[in-house]
This record gives sequence, structure tokens and C-alpha cells, in this order.
Amino acid sequence: MQLKGFMFDMIQNELEDAVGRENCSTREADKLVHGVDYYWLSRMWADRGMTPPEADIIVCPKNAKEVSSVLKIANYYKMPVTTWGGGGGTQGGALPLAGGIVLDTKRMNEITEFNTDSMYMESGTGAIHTHLEWYANERGYATMHYPSSQNCSTLGGFLAHRGIGVVSTKYGKIDDMCLSMEVVLPNGDIINTSPVPKHAAGPDLNQIFIGSEGTLGVITKAQMRIYVQPELRWFRAFLFKDLTSAFAAGKELLTKIKPSCMRLYDEAETVSLIKKIVGVERKGAFMNLALEGMKDIVAVEQKILFDTFAKYGAEDLGSDYGEKWWKEKITFFYPGHMMDIPQMFGTMDSVATYSNIEKIYWAMKEAVETNFPMAKFIAHFSHWYEWGAMIYDRFIVDNPPQDPHEALRLHNQIWYTGVRAALANGGVVNDHHGVGVKLGKLMKEQYGPAMQVMEGLKRQLDPNGIMNPYKLGL
Ligand SMILES: Cc1cc2nc3c(=O)[nH]c(=O)nc-3n(C[C@H](O)[C@H](O)[C@H](O)COP(=O)(O)OP(=O)(O)OC[C@H]3O[C@@H](n4cnc5c(N)ncnc54)[C@H](O)[C@@H]3O)c2cc1C
Repeated sequence: MQLKGFMFDMIQNELEDAVGRENCSTREADKLVHGVDYYWLSRMWADRGMTPPEADIIVCPKNAKEVSSVLKIANYYKMPVTTWGGGGGTQGGALPLAGGIVLDTKRMNEITEFNTDSMYMESGTGAIHTHLEWYANERGYATMHYPSSQNCSTLGGFLAHRGIGVVSTKYGKIDDMCLSMEVVLPNGDIINTSPVPKHAAGPDLNQIFIGSEGTLGVITKAQMRIYVQPELRWFRAFLFKDLTSAFAAGKELLTKIKPSCMRLYDEAETVSLIKKIVGVERKGAFMNLALEGMKDIVAVEQKILFDTFAKYGAEDLGSDYGEKWWKEKITFFYPGHMMDIPQMFGTMDSVATYSNIEKIYWAMKEAVETNFPMAKFIAHFSHWYEWGAMIYDRFIVDNPPQDPHEALRLHNQIWYTGVRAALANGGVVNDHHGVGVKLGKLMKEQYGPAMQVMEGLKRQLDPNGIMNPYKLGL
């Protein structure tokens, strides 16, 4: 939306009245930083000198009341509103594709309650997640939500995208950790979901807004579980002869105990990891695993682990790798340590039952490698459930086209091919990075007529379609 001249000044003035003049910006530099997130296409677009999607104005409200005023103004003028947390999303979810208002949540970062009776903390959703972790740690507790982007992404972003951290096999995803939320609806009404997450008072409102990616409202506050720190966090690495035996061992283990972390790597990743650990190249399937909790209980779990994995011929590679990985699990994602432009890359995470997960791996690998010989495909499996696991697979193209339109075309073709292979074999569009603009088109392919449930909610809550247009396939 491009409102210019007198009328734009009038709206700007109304927004300044709602959140304070110093908390509104039309500066070109601010528009630029709110036009590029961690979506490869948005970064490539800027890298090639193209103009990123630009908001007309960036507003930074302090609380639900101010958010409510902004949404009322936006609704009146039918102006698009895109919520922006840390801008660390990989699916282009925070990009203001239709212009209008970017609502940056980072001023809503106050921790308002730390309740050790009921084991939760309440915070504004603009808080960077690491700050919540520090706050909990200083009091002897932990959030147990450790995604690799915890230093740059917000609580609201993780809720809006259904995020996941590295110890989720024991503690769950962000949607398992949320007790209750305050949400501002597109019409400006401020609502609270149920005071507790488990009840029979109708459908779960938390789960309607968690994963809604800013298309149904703005999550302004959330009560999130806190956990006692484990007495012991213990790592062990294993080498299996192949993925099939590793999966069989992993799923049997899950019927007995819950490791906090289980990461199983495909052959391509195993070869390079094993070389780092034992100095020689070896084939197979490498697994890094952690047990944690009270020392006495971990001791029992260790015995169960060794007995179970011995049945599947796992070779014990000790604890050093896991301990080092834990210390470096985030630095690995810093610039200079992982893929970056000029490479083209993407993480096509999906999740499926054990009956389908290996099939999906081979189908995605074949689809990507056969159709795009210039792409390398690697994968690992983390976040295990009793019923299945998540596949975290990546493609990497070292020399993508320089022409931005051709680069966009190749990028999207690889994505559609890979994700369709997952869908054809019982997978889903995404496990934890969300949908955004990147995968919106595939939502209908996954859901078919079920998509009308989401479309109906959208129509009811946001009849003017102002909230985050072109995202989530809505
Ligand atoms: C290096 C790196 C590693 C990553 N590792 C992980 C990982 O391990 N696990 C994981 O889950 N993700 C990971 N991600 C992805 C990313 O961090 C998540 O998608 C995260 O949820 C984005 O949060 P954000 O605050 O940066 O959101 P943004 O990018 O600002 O926004 C993401 C989406 O959420 C919406 N949104 C944001 N805040 C709100 C709100 N308060 N109310 C309503 N909607 C809102 C936006 O409109 C947008 O649609 C990684 C990203 C990077 C760059």
C-alpha cells in the first residue's frame, strides 16, 4: 500500500499519537532493516541490489493497549500490518510484502511475573529468548527452549512459528511450553486465552494463535513454563551401520526413556562428522544423544541406553563430541561458521511417523539430487517422539545464478520439489520454521479442503485482511 502526501501524514500522526512519535519511523534505514529477514530470497534480493519489500512506517508499541490502538487505526484505513519480532525467521514471514505498517514488538520485552509455585514466567513477546533464559538461570531455573536462533529471535516469533529447541525430545516444542497468552485481535480487541493450557472448556485457543504467523492477531504476552535445572546433562555419541538400524534403536529407546536430545545424521553428514571425531572417514549413521535430570535417574537411563543400543550393534564413541557440540551449538550458526550468500541454501524440515520418516528422507534426497544435480543434500533427524521424528534436511548450491530472477526461480523450484516429495510420502509442509511466504502455496496441497478451517478463521477474525497478507497461504 502506498499512501502518500497529506493522507499519509494524517495516518502517521494518528500512529504517533498511539505509540509516541519517537516510536514511529519512516527512515529509509529502518525500512531497509525491516525488509530483509533470514529468508534466503530476501537476503539474495538485497545482495543483488534490488529493492526489498518496504513498509510505509515502522511502529514500536509498548503494550497490548498500544497494539490495540495501532490495529484499530490500520483497520479503519485498511492498511496492512506485519508483525516483526527479531527478523530471524527463515520463511519470509515478517516481510511487509504489501507495505503498510510494520509492528515491531521489541519494546514489549518486560518480564512481568516469575512464578515458582506454578512453574511459569510471564513475559512480553518482544523479549529475545536468551534474555528469558538468563533471567530464569539467575533464579536457578531454565526455559529449556534452546533453538539455534535464541540470541536473535523473540518469544513471539517462536510462538508464531511453532518453534523448537535442541532438548525438545524431553521438554517439548514451544507449543507444549505455553500456558496462556494475551493476544490483540485484528479489530483491536485484547483477549486472553484460558488461564490454564489443559481443560475441556472447548477448543484450545492457545493452539489457534500459536503457529498463526501474525495472520490472526498480535501475541503480546505469554506465560511460559520454567523447569528446574538438571543435576546432570550427559552426552554420548554412537555409530550405527545404517539409518535403518539407528531408527530401530532410537524408537525402541523412546518406548523406555526420554533423552533430552537425539540427533541422528545421514551418511553424507556422518562421514564428515566421524572424520572430525576419530580422524578417519567411516560410513554409517552417527547419533549424538543426551540424557539429563537427577543423577540417580540418569544412571538408570544410561544402563537402559547401552543395553538397547547394543542390540542394534551401535559403536560407543564416548562423550567428548556431545560436550563440545553443546558448548558450540549456537556459535556454529554465526556468520563464517555456516552456509551463507553467495551459496544458496535452505532447510526443508518436515516431520512424520516412523513408518514414513525414512521413506521421506530417500524421496526428498532423490527428488532434489536428480532434478538439481548442482545441489548437495544433507540431513539429520532430531526431535524424536514416541510416534515419529523430525527430518532436518538441507540443500546447498555453491554457485547459484547471479541474475536475481533466475536465482529466485531455481530456489523456488528446489523447494517445491523437495517439499512435494515429503508431502507425497506422509510428511508435512514444515516442522518448526513455519510457512511464511515461502511455503504458503503448498499449504493447500497439504490440507486440501481442511484449509477452509483456517480460511474461515481468517475471514472471521480479520475481515479486512490487514494482518500479514500473503503469508501462511491465507
Ligand atoms: C541461524 C538461525 C537458526 C535457527 N534455528 C532455529 C531453531 O533451532 N528452531 C526454530 O524453531 N527456529 C529456528 N530458526 C528460525 C527462527 O528463529 C524462528 O522462525 C523464530 O520463530 C523467528 O522468531 P523472530 O522473533 O525472529 O520472528 P520474525 O522473523 O520477526 O517473525 C516470524 C513470524 O512471526 C510473526 N510474529 C513475530 N512476533 C509475533 C507476535 N508477537 N505475534 C504474532 N506474530 C508474530 C511474524 O509476523 C512472522 O510471520 C533459526 C533461524 C536462524 C536465522
